[in-house]
Amino acid sequence: MSPPEIRISPLAAPASSLWGVGGERATQLARLGIVTIKDLLLHAPRRYEDRRHFRKIVELTKDEPFTARGTIVAQGLKRFRGGSKSVFEFILDDGSARLHCRWWNLPFMEKYFEVGDEVFVFGKLVEAKPRTMDHPETEVIEGGEEGFIHINRIAPVYPLTEGLPQRWLRGLIWRTLEKFVAASRQSAENFPDWRAADKKLAALSRDAATLPTRANAVHMIHFPGELTDVEIARRRLALDEFVELQIQIQSRRRKFEALSKALPCAGDNRLMKPFLAQLGFKLTGAQTKVLREVRADMCGAHPMRRLLQGDVGSGKTVVAACSALMALESGFNVALMAPTEILADQHYRNFKNWFEPLGVKVEMQTGSRKTAESREPRVESQPRRLPSTLDPRPSTLFVGTHALFTAGFDLPKLGLVIIDEQHKFGVAQRETLVRKGNYPHLLVMTATPIPRTLGLTLYGDLDVSVIDEMPAGRGSVKTFIRTAEKLPKVWEFIREKIAAGRQVYVVYPRVEEQDTANDIKAVTKEFENVQRSLAPFKAGLLHGRVKSAEKESVMAAFRANQIQALVATALIEVGLDVPNATVMLIENAERFGLAQLHQLRGRIGRGAHESFCILISDAKNPEARARLKILEETNDGFKIAEVDLKLRGPGELLGREQSGMPKFRFGNLVDDLDLIRQARELVAKGL
Ligand code: ADP
Ligand code: MG
Repeated sequence: MSPPEIRISPLAAPASSLWGVGGERATQLARLGIVTIKDLLLHAPRRYEDRRHFRKIVELTKDEPFTARGTIVAQGLKRFRGGSKSVFEFILDDGSARLHCRWWNLPFMEKYFEVGDEVFVFGKLVEAKPRTMDHPETEVIEGGEEGFIHINRIAPVYPLTEGLPQRWLRGLIWRTLEKFVAASRQSAENFPDWRAADKKLAALSRDAATLPTRANAVHMIHFPGELTDVEIARRRLALDEFVELQIQIQSRRRKFEALSKALPCAGDNRLMKPFLAQLGFKLTGAQTKVLREVRADMCGAHPMRRLLQGDVGSGKTVVAACSALMALESGFNVALMAPTEILADQHYRNFKNWFEPLGVKVEMQTGSRKTAESREPRVESQPRRLPSTLDPRPSTLFVGTHALFTAGFDLPKLGLVIIDEQHKFGVAQRETLVRKGNYPHLLVMTATPIPRTLGLTLYGDLDVSVIDEMPAGRGSVKTFIRTAEKLPKVWEFIREKIAAGRQVYVVYPRVEEQDTANDIKAVTKEFENVQRSLAPFKAGLLHGRVKSAEKESVMAAFRANQIQALVATALIEVGLDVPNATVMLIENAERFGLAQLHQLRGRIGRGAHESFCILISDAKNPEARARLKILEETNDGFKIAEVDLKLRGPGELLGREQSGMPKFRFGNLVDDLDLIRQARELVAKGL
């Protein structure tokens, strides 16, 4: 929403200024998020009913919902169980057959209907003999001057709130459209901003001619002439939403670039060379390409804002290490943050091994182990001057969790912040985090490949690098779906693998048992079974409620192969790197998201040995089975993320904590990639 519209548009007036909207109605509308007239006009129907043609009741089937129209020929309320339960029922007749409509335990429904009323009902048959619907949606047909709004057309059906009648809302929207939109077709006065948007769109977009004007789109979304109009209108309104978001993203980026000056962090290779020499492998072409992009950013005019995407196991950690070295060589400190303590701890060990021989200090920041450096009062608030190589303090890499850095983020001379596996971390959080550090460079690494629609919206203000190549010399990963019945065989297989020297992960969806969901296994209970069935080999237990120190010692034992099986929750989903672990067993696999399963599977296949991912599921639901099947078929994280987005929506994919998720009334992050791209181009061109 652009500011001028707020000031001058009549659409910004409160909905309560409309004729017929009193205090109570205004409160009900507010519950639906409708405060202004604009909100009302953009209140999208949740479905449409074609009231020009009706199925005859005699033709109704049990498979799909439908609308019927008829007259109530009888009705009554029955109470039973001493009056505590009831069923209200009416019988509808359309001349072809009769339909029973029932409402359980809603005795007041009786008040809304009378014998002789003409009624629309929408629902599915629950029984065919006699034809019966339970709790259908209904609308009583009334005569009068407004009848034409509701019948003999494609009628919108809106989301409602308690006490607000469908007919009333439809009437209100109709009248408001008449007043504003119909009038706007004659003169632009009512909608200066809508008109301006139309004109700009026409000037900049090749497709503008094929799109309805904004005013027409608003009209069509409520009262389409044909059902196909709905999608045409939705696309125009969605485009407007994406344009609005891109304006925000792109102006935020421009403002950022104008305000912030980059710290010179490209380094001089003096640490990088010995680091790469001792690494034991050559960087892949993709890793090298990404590092070139990072280096260009870190000697550029503006601080780096870069998203690094790469499938699990593609080697993002080494890229992080090399990026860190560039800043460290330049005399700046670096902060590396991980989503969990286990992962922070793993990074701490890795980087200590890698960096300390090079003379770089590596410090762990945990709740219990704050470093001396971070407690020191900050002397220089702005490290503006170019740090000389004579700086007495050696540069330091600080490692910690997101949570910890968010709480007390005040590190001196910070040149680069690296956020690892940041999938479940909001945009807003990200920015406050980095602001505190006085515009250091920022490298964000994602746990899972991000579908392009989300990349361009949620991560729209970041430049993107992709590692699109796996390191050579990896053993393959085979994935199997099995029912619980096969578990004895699976365990036999696992014992064989352990006897051959390998290690395994065993994952359950829950920490503890709950009596409500009986067939979902819990890790604390299963742990004992696993211990028993693997003896004399050893198993360790890991979940969110295990104490930090205990977690660390279990991980250390697993890393050292003193423990052969790690029994855990999805806590281990991100980042863990133990190449000798080659089997991943996941029970109740249907309880996890696809992207999550792919992450879990990413824990194996990291060494030269062949690896096996076994998904146990008794899910009968064909959709759930089809979903799991995708994992059997592909190892491509991008494909899996796209499917997961389609099946579960962006909220699930990104995690519930995700803040800063843009909300769209019309835009759809699953299907609208073309519109999102178009919006981005248009805004870049100056819309
Ligand atoms: P992710 O991208 O999932 O974070 P990691 O950075 O943990 O992946 O890397 C996975 C494994 O691959 C690690 O054991 C790492 O040492 C190894 N690795 C990374 N880059 C290469 C490479 N170019 N050649 C061989 N092995 C590599
Ligand atoms: Mg990683």
